[in-house]
Order: sequence, then structure tokens, then C-alpha cells
Amino acid sequence: MAREGPRYDLPAPDPETQPFWDAARAGTLLIRRCGDCGRFHSYPRPFCPVCWSTNVEWVEASGRATLYTWSVVRRNDLPPFPERVPYVAAVVDLDEGPRMMTNVVDCEFDALEIGMPLEVLFQETSADVTSPVFRPRGAERADRGAA
Ligand SMILES: [Zn+2]
Repeated sequence: MAREGPRYDLPAPDPETQPFWDAARAGTLLIRRCGDCGRFHSYPRPFCPVCWSTNVEWVEASGRATLYTWSVVRRNDLPPFPERVPYVAAVVDLDEGPRMMTNVVDCEFDALEIGMPLEVLFQETSADVTSPVFRPRGAERADRGAA
């Protein structure tokens, strides 16, 4: 079942980003807030990209976002992506402000729309890594309602 060889879908956590990946495994999306100017940022950096303060802290994001742009990837030769195509590579705007690269799941490609409301969910990428991805907001409720 487990693939041999390199995988190009796994992050390389370091001390700076490990809390983000630990939180994702626990089902929480973390972003960083600047204690001086109050702005949020993602990906995590040891300083605020707006005012350069090093007074930054982890905070739990709402998990709500809107779709900024996307691409339906139909070919990717780097393992393990050949087994996953087609998939949606996306950039989303978190409600807190930061723009984040991710995937959109649980959505027909034709239904994707700029500005559509999304919510985070967490997908197990490997035994050690869980990744935040997004789906249309309310999709799960709509599915249940239709059943
Ligand atoms: Zn700042």
C-alpha cells in the first residue's frame, strides 16, 4: 500500500512550522497574529510581514474563507499526484485576511466560482501529516439535507 520513493506532497516541518502541523492533526487551523499591528499572516513567519515586528503569536483561525482563484490540475508527473488527478489547486482568502494555497475538495469543477464561501476541513496526507483543505461552506449540511 505504501509507496516507495520520493513524495512531493509532504511538507518539511521545522521548529517554526511544527505547531501548525501539530494543530492540523488535531483539527485546528493556526495562523499568526502580530501583537503590535494586529494583522494576521500565513504561512507562518518569525516576524510580521506588515510591520516587521517579531511580536507574533499563534491564533486559531475561523476556518472560513472565500475562493480567490483555482486551477483544475489534470496532469502532474510528480509522485504521488498522478494517482490524484484531477484535483483543484486553489488560493483562498481566509476571513482573517491572509491568502493561502490549498486544495478545494467536495465540489464539482463546474461549480467553482470566485468568491464562493469555503470552510476548512482536514485531510490525512500521510501517517504523520494532516493538511488543511477547503470545501464549499455548508456542503456537508446540504448533502445530509438531500439524503
Ligand atoms: Zn505587525
